[in-house]
Amino acid sequence: MKRRLLLSVLILVFLAGCNNPQLYLHNVFKSIDLEVRTHSQAYTMLTDICERFGSRMAGTESAEQAEEFVSLLFRSYGFEDVFFQPFTFNQWQRGDVRLRIDTAGTYVDLPALALAFTPSGNVNASIVDAGNGLINDYNDLDVTDKIVLIHLGLLPGTPSNIKNIHRARKLSLAIAQGAAGCIAVSPVPGGLPVTGSATLDGEMIRIPAVSISYEEGEKLRASLSRRDARARIVTTNSCQPAYARNIVARMEGYEYPEETIVVGAHLDTWDISPGALDNASGAVSVLEIARILKALDLKTRRSVEFVLFMAEEEGHYGSELYVREARQRNLLDGIRYMFNHDMTINTYGFNLMGHHESEDFFKKTGALIALTDSAFTDTMEHITYMGSDHAPFLMEGITTFTPLCRYEAFHTYHTNADEPQYINPEMINSNVKASAMMVYALANAPELPASRMSQEQLRTYLIDNQLQEELVISGDWAWD
Ligand SMILES: [Zn+2]
Repeated sequence: MKRRLLLSVLILVFLAGCNNPQLYLHNVFKSIDLEVRTHSQAYTMLTDICERFGSRMAGTESAEQAEEFVSLLFRSYGFEDVFFQPFTFNQWQRGDVRLRIDTAGTYVDLPALALAFTPSGNVNASIVDAGNGLINDYNDLDVTDKIVLIHLGLLPGTPSNIKNIHRARKLSLAIAQGAAGCIAVSPVPGGLPVTGSATLDGEMIRIPAVSISYEEGEKLRASLSRRDARARIVTTNSCQPAYARNIVARMEGYEYPEETIVVGAHLDTWDISPGALDNASGAVSVLEIARILKALDLKTRRSVEFVLFMAEEEGHYGSELYVREARQRNLLDGIRYMFNHDMTINTYGFNLMGHHESEDFFKKTGALIALTDSAFTDTMEHITYMGSDHAPFLMEGITTFTPLCRYEAFHTYHTNADEPQYINPEMINSNVKASAMMVYALANAPELPASRMSQEQLRTYLIDNQLQEELVISGDWAWD
């Protein structure tokens, strides 16, 4: 009798296993793991894109060639539904820059880079240290007609409850305070000045803004605490209308084709490097995930759209356009998740950006990912920010998330050193593997926890996640 009972229990366990979705998912994950370990093209693709096209600033000839190239790649993987989304935008063009510090008659020229959308200008004024350049840093400060020195990150010793804001929002604060110019200090040590957009509306800002390295910033700040100094900033830059295209590859779902998981990354870079980390790493991750799903012939219940956005750096133009077109075609409710890849290497978990209702799903799926990859620790965080292509989706109430990445080469971010040599195949494959698994899990799950937020839910979400202040500063706060 006991034996028979044991046998029936074993049979039941066996039958349950056959119908166990988690077991099935685990087997799919094992095949993705094998594909990445034996056939990954991600790193070769990364070096290839960087070497072939160099910098891919949206609207340039090299960017246009890169757009063509990736559309052909998608087709070569077996995608039939591949299309461009063209748009025009205001392209900023870098000219010369000079920054000279005058400390009581001693002149020093500092290596500097203009922040994008800095106009041509020639300013000579005294320098005021405005710390982190956040609203409260101006409380007892008169910066009218002065050059403000601001840190682009958060200075050591900043209280942990203080949240950093996008550089463009720091610039609009400085301008609102009456500053005549801005010296912005790189947030990361590494001896290099950084670039990046100083605006969020795609128009020239009113004052010249240049960046210097973290180290030069520390020296200048220390020197200012001892004696006053002046700076002369000379810049020559211009803007012109330009043309770029998103590239979209669509895989139709077999059960809920009107529901979509958007997997996106920007393909464009700044003009000063091939952007290996920012964002060839994200672009090849998206390409490689697309390739793997096709190579393994994985069919999914929902549709997946792989999107390479253009002109992210100059103001999220491509992702704004994607969202605008989806809104016009009434497709926004169908977008269940937007998974953004911006500088994605060494992935060890996911950043769920305050979307707590999705935690369970990600935890369970993450535990299965961890079984195939010991470097993946199934960590979950809720870091919210507006500075990438997920932002236009988030502002429509769509659930957005990103891989959680460990950076060893972060000092190259937005500098002329963003080259492939700082990235290796393991770094990029770790993201491809975990992210491909998550894309499959989301696209094929019988049910998903997330749905689009209502306007009221979105308002609460933005407040709860401390995004209100910066949206107010940039004029994007839709409520009163
Ligand atoms: Zn980026």
